[in-house]
Amino acid sequence: MTPAAYLDQHASDLVALLQTLVRRPTVNPPGQNYGEITEHLAQELRDLGLTVRRLAIPHAVQRRVQPTQLDYPRYNVVGCWDAGAAKTVHLNAHYDVVPVSGQWKHGDAFSGAVDKGWVYGRGTADMKGAIASILFALRALRSTGVTPRCNVEVSFTADEETDSVLGAEWLVRHGKLRADYAIVGEGGERDHVCCGHNGVLWFNVTIHGKAAHGSTPQDGINALEKMAELVLGLRHYKKVLSRRKFRAPDGRVLSPTINLGGVFASGEGGKINTVPALATFSIDRRVLATENHAEAERELRAAVKAAAAAIPQCRITLEKVSENFSCYTDPESPFFRAVQESVTRVRRRRAGLTVATGFNDMHFFAQHLKIPTLGYGPSGVNFHAVDERARVTDLVQSAKIYVDLLTTFAG
Ligand SMILES: [Zn+2]
Repeated sequence: MTPAAYLDQHASDLVALLQTLVRRPTVNPPGQNYGEITEHLAQELRDLGLTVRRLAIPHAVQRRVQPTQLDYPRYNVVGCWDAGAAKTVHLNAHYDVVPVSGQWKHGDAFSGAVDKGWVYGRGTADMKGAIASILFALRALRSTGVTPRCNVEVSFTADEETDSVLGAEWLVRHGKLRADYAIVGEGGERDHVCCGHNGVLWFNVTIHGKAAHGSTPQDGINALEKMAELVLGLRHYKKVLSRRKFRAPDGRVLSPTINLGGVFASGEGGKINTVPALATFSIDRRVLATENHAEAERELRAAVKAAAAAIPQCRITLEKVSENFSCYTDPESPFFRAVQESVTRVRRRRAGLTVATGFNDMHFFAQHLKIPTLGYGPSGVNFHAVDERARVTDLVQSAKIYVDLLTTFAG
């Protein structure tokens, strides 16, 4: 039997495995059941004959990074199938899921209910479905006695839904990985292989005015009015960004963007009869896959400072809240061509390359390990929403694509 035929025959086992994973809620924050699920995943990999390391994040490290979540220890799992090959392909998926809300079709958000060819539940699409596809690809190879043409390294990581600091980031820094190429099981799906994604810079801008009684506004400096001027002053920078174009491999033309003020705040003592002494707004700067992150940050800081300097008595502070790096690998990489060919063969439709506007864990592998990294995995619907689900045929197809790649690509 071929591995592909094995996958067709064992689709119900793949679904059962996904259900087992979904029924262990690994909601993050705070990071529930990480211990249990990583034990389970490590055992799955051991049963497949892989050499497995279940890496616990040292308590002291977690205390520094997540002082409020010490009751929820962090783990990452790494498995290796040494096929005696020269090169190693790494397959990664995160096992944490976002919190749930709302009324689900099958009652429980962690039901794993199967309905008309779809598996329902938090994590089915994002991204326990990919975990199931990866494990089943390996199971199909083992069960049919087929050896991959490259070594296979697998990781299941924590915390992607928050910041990945103790997940993929920790793993690429401390996990002693041997990967030469990496596939993160999300970002690309169906006919699209993802060769890069945007990055992000999040800032808070605080304007420092001077409080005064509302009946004598001339005695104060109104931080809200300064903020309004500053926001308008940033229109020029918006225009500058919109003129910068990047043509993605799929033909879309993308520009960097800023979104101002998803968050607004005033300081303590914000009252209708008081001149506001503080005003804060946020800036969400999306960094193109091909932009230099540090350069983008310098430019943003300079633009905000210049806009503030043009306004009398506008004193500001800029605080970086969070950031995520972009990544982009040359689409001409032979690894990308091989994956595109595998997708095309299995789906019988020409696959193309794409760049994701959101971000995922790809950049840790691309930036830190400096290896060709792409995103591809099963598709799904209602990510982070009610009735999140994955289609069984897509899960099987992704497993077949991984199998096809691992049996044709030698590096
Ligand atoms: Zn995800």
